[in-house]
Formats: sequence, structure tokens, C-alpha cells
Amino acid sequence: MRIGALEAGGTKMVLAVGNEEGKIFDRRTIPTRTPEETMPEIIRYFQGQHIASLGVACFGPIDLNRKSETYGSILMTPKLAWRHYDILGTLGNALHVPMAFDTDVNGSAVGEHRFGAAKDVDSCVYITIGTGIGIGVIADGKPLHGALHPEGGHIMMGKKPGDDFKCICPNHDCCFEGMASGPAIEKRWGMKAYELSDRPEVWETESWYIAQAIVDYIMILSPQRIILGGGVMKQTQLFPMICAKVKEMIHGYLVMPELDDIEHYIVSPGCGDDQGILGCIAMAAELL
Ligand code: ADP
Ligand code: ZN
Repeated sequence: MRIGALEAGGTKMVLAVGNEEGKIFDRRTIPTRTPEETMPEIIRYFQGQHIASLGVACFGPIDLNRKSETYGSILMTPKLAWRHYDILGTLGNALHVPMAFDTDVNGSAVGEHRFGAAKDVDSCVYITIGTGIGIGVIADGKPLHGALHPEGGHIMMGKKPGDDFKCICPNHDCCFEGMASGPAIEKRWGMKAYELSDRPEVWETESWYIAQAIVDYIMILSPQRIILGGGVMKQTQLFPMICAKVKEMIHGYLVMPELDDIEHYIVSPGCGDDQGILGCIAMAAELL
């Protein structure tokens, strides 16, 4: 079976074709320009691929409510050209195949749950720390939606004692994304994040904010695994720092075996950088 995957990001679109076992046959990456420029290119690609269904994981916020008139549209994004754009409708009118639709991060969480680091559990949180911060949540084996969908990058944070950095989120005084995304690191230290590997104070601060967010996700969602991806997490020295701080911040309150083996609880992705397209393929395979 040939299944299509579209990982629609704010800077690039990843188009791929694979099968239900997670084998990827073909992929192409194109820059995200305006819908008028980018959508015809996407449609032409999939029209030549003989796909049976298509999974779309899209930057947000998006309308996931099937009863809504704007189901399948992008909502109030700062990317003005894409605001209120009916991405799923446009694809459906051109391709005429069953389609699955979710947030980019839920797509990644599905990919990790189906094929990667959360294959053996029923619930997980996938956190991406890159240009933005987002979380995808699997609860009882399914991606979590709700009134809109989780926006875990914008949870309010307590400030690290002594930290006077001004949050860069235009909407919030002190949220996770505004304090700890790649651009926040660059603003805080005046250098590209990847040039700061040998500065322990950078990762001390970064791991403190990431740990605080993870403790909140654990308290609220009680996931059985936490997967950390995105460009910033290429700094793998963060993992032991985050694990130690999560344990410190929980401060004995939770007794669960996962915390005794925390290096296998808070982990790097099992799908490399492919969890997004693999999640799209898994979601679309379910429709057949
Ligand atoms: P996006 O979030 O745009 O999809 P990424 O997940 O690659 O893409 O995130 C890009 C961000 O991650 C940038 O802010 C960049 O500075 C940061 N980043 C990329 N590679 C590294 C690295 N090796 N170390 C630290 N930060 C990195
Ligand atoms: Zn925010």
C-alpha cells in the first residue's frame, strides 16, 4: 500500500510516500512560501504517487473539530498568508483520497508511538524544542485534542532564581517557548545555539526550564514516556541535566518506577528526524 505523508511546517514542507510498516519509499522537501505558490507543488507531487490515503501534520493552531465548518483549516497563525487557509479542503478537492489531519507535534508523537521510542507504551509526550516549542500528546493510544489542541509550548513558567532574561514570546511574560526555544537561547546569549556547546551555564539554564515544563506535563498528563526532539536537543548533554533536575523538582512527591530509571523515561527520539512523516503515514494507514 502506498500512503502519502505531508509534514507542513512554517519554514518547510516535507512530502513523502511510504507504507503501513513505516518504510519510506520517497521524500521531497520544499520551502513553505505562500499557499498559492506551495500548494500546487504539493498537489502535483502526490498526484504522481498513486497514494491510497494521506496523513497531514500541520503547524498550528489548526481546527481539528470535525463538526466545525472550518475543520481542516489553519487558524490564527502569525504566518499571515496561511491564516484561515483551508489546507485539508484544498488537498481533498485535488487528490480525492481519505485524509487524516493533526498538529505537527501530534503527528510526531504518533510516529514515535507507532514506530519509535514509545512503541511499548500507551501514552507519551513528544516535545520539540527548536524555532518554537510544541508538545504532542498520546493518551490511551490516541493523539489528544480537546477544545483546540494542546499548546504546551506556551505554559506559564516560574523564573529561574536570579534570571533577568525578558521572555521573547509576544503574548506572554514568561512562557516555556519565550524562555527556552532556539531563538530565546540566541537572544539570551548573543550567539547561535549550536555555537554554545562548550558553555555549561547555557545548558544549566536551558535544562532548568525544560525540566520545569516536564514536571508540569508529568503532573497533569502522567505520560509513560517523554521524548525530546528538535534542533536544541541535538545538545545531548542536556539529557542527564534535565533528568537530574526533574527528579529534584518532583522532590519525592511522585512514586513511580519510571523515575527510578529516568534515563529510559526521558529519552531522545527513536525515529531520528522522521517521526513527523512516519506519524502521518500511521494516521493515514488507519483510515484504510
Ligand atoms: P524547526 O523548529 O524550525 O522545525 P529545528 O527543530 O531544527 O527546526 O530547530 C531550529 C532551532 O534549533 C534553531 O533555533 C537553532 O538554533 C536550534 N538548533 C539547531 N541545531 C542545533 C544544535 N546542534 N544545537 C543547538 N541548537 C540547535
Ligand atoms: Zn508564549
